[in-house]
Amino acid sequence: MSPLVSATPSSFVTHLESAIDGTVFAADELQTLHEGRPLWVKYDLQQIRESVDRDRLTKRPETMWRYHELLPVGDAEIVSLGERMSPLLPAPQLAKRFGLEDLWVKDESQLPTGSFKSRGMALAITMARRFGVERVAVPSAGNAGGAAAAYAARAGMECFVFMPHDTPMINQYEALLAGAKTFQVNGLINDCGKIVRDGKASMGWFDLSTLKEPYRIEGKKTMGLELAEQCDWSLPDVILYPTGGGTGLIGMWKAFQELLELGWLNNSHMPRMVAVQSSGCDPMVRAFSSGERFAELCRDAQTVASGIRVPAAVGDFMILDAIRESGGMATAVEEARIREWMKLAVSLEGIPICPEAAACVGALEQLTEAGWIGSDERVVLFNTGAAQKYAEAIESPLPQIDCLKEVDWDQFLNR
Ligand SMILES: *Cc1c(COP(=O)(O)O)cnc(C)c1O
Repeated sequence: MSPLVSATPSSFVTHLESAIDGTVFAADELQTLHEGRPLWVKYDLQQIRESVDRDRLTKRPETMWRYHELLPVGDAEIVSLGERMSPLLPAPQLAKRFGLEDLWVKDESQLPTGSFKSRGMALAITMARRFGVERVAVPSAGNAGGAAAAYAARAGMECFVFMPHDTPMINQYEALLAGAKTFQVNGLINDCGKIVRDGKASMGWFDLSTLKEPYRIEGKKTMGLELAEQCDWSLPDVILYPTGGGTGLIGMWKAFQELLELGWLNNSHMPRMVAVQSSGCDPMVRAFSSGERFAELCRDAQTVASGIRVPAAVGDFMILDAIRESGGMATAVEEARIREWMKLAVSLEGIPICPEAAACVGALEQLTEAGWIGSDERVVLFNTGAAQKYAEAIESPLPQIDCLKEVDWDQFLNR
């Protein structure tokens, strides 16, 4: 048996564990993959249960760091841009539209850099710095690049970002603005990932790719911890999550298991996890439907929902295990209708629903029509990013007014 060591004196981490075969790794050094597959961070939950009072915890400052005993940080200096708890907003208009009574949006658009990627990057950069990393690199199809760049800047680290050439402009610009060395690649995110992997030896950078280091999951886990707390420790019936690399879905499922083991939940009712993808890029849906544990590379991946344009995920089996264990499913929605659902959701609720979350609105339409979601079930839809970062998703140019001519007022009434 391998010796179990604590990551830092005051952390409850016992060890890291391979998700594919259970091999144990020490937590007090920098780890990446094992057999090309991700590692879990494991905690002494018994010890946490004895040391932390659930109800006292809820009086701490309202940031993701209030759950620090369930995070690997220990006494590491935290790299933060002020990660407030994201609001859980009721969505009554959208609910009515789909015949639901109890629909909520967990609005991650309000986090630093305008997406939930900040949760993972805050943790990954905090831990990387603790282990002495000075240079990081990341492939990104959207928001990860900007978040990595911002937290690296905050930590005084050098950052390289590789993006598909057709990544939304604002994502390219935010990475550049934060001082990251940012490059366009004439391929998809997996091609960018290969550059980061191949450059490791000669460039000496640490690979921050989704699930290739163990800590981004732990950051994303805080979405599940917050949700549980915001639902008074009784989890909802269904969670709709736009799935790319799957960190958020995997992280939340891990959070729920840990909460259950801690005895912090009021009951053992687990949500059915729904991985939502676009018909333009649906590797998880195909693997789920055919009963496979691993997904095949999706060719010619194309979707306006750039965050879920992920043709291959190293954590595919972790996503599929989680949705199956939960009694959930993976479903793809029509790519051509994503802009329509985005407009519908933002105009009905005023919440800046990003294209990825708009795919979840599509899934809501699909699954309520099919009766898979019942009208009285509590449903939570994750708005993973801010709509305003997606200039490319705007449908048509606005009508023009010529200020040198007399205004035709009737035109407004007919709009
Ligand atoms: C990255 C991203 C996703 C996909 O997240 P995973 O947890 O990696 O599956 C979804 N939505 C947005 C806005 C993203 O930036």
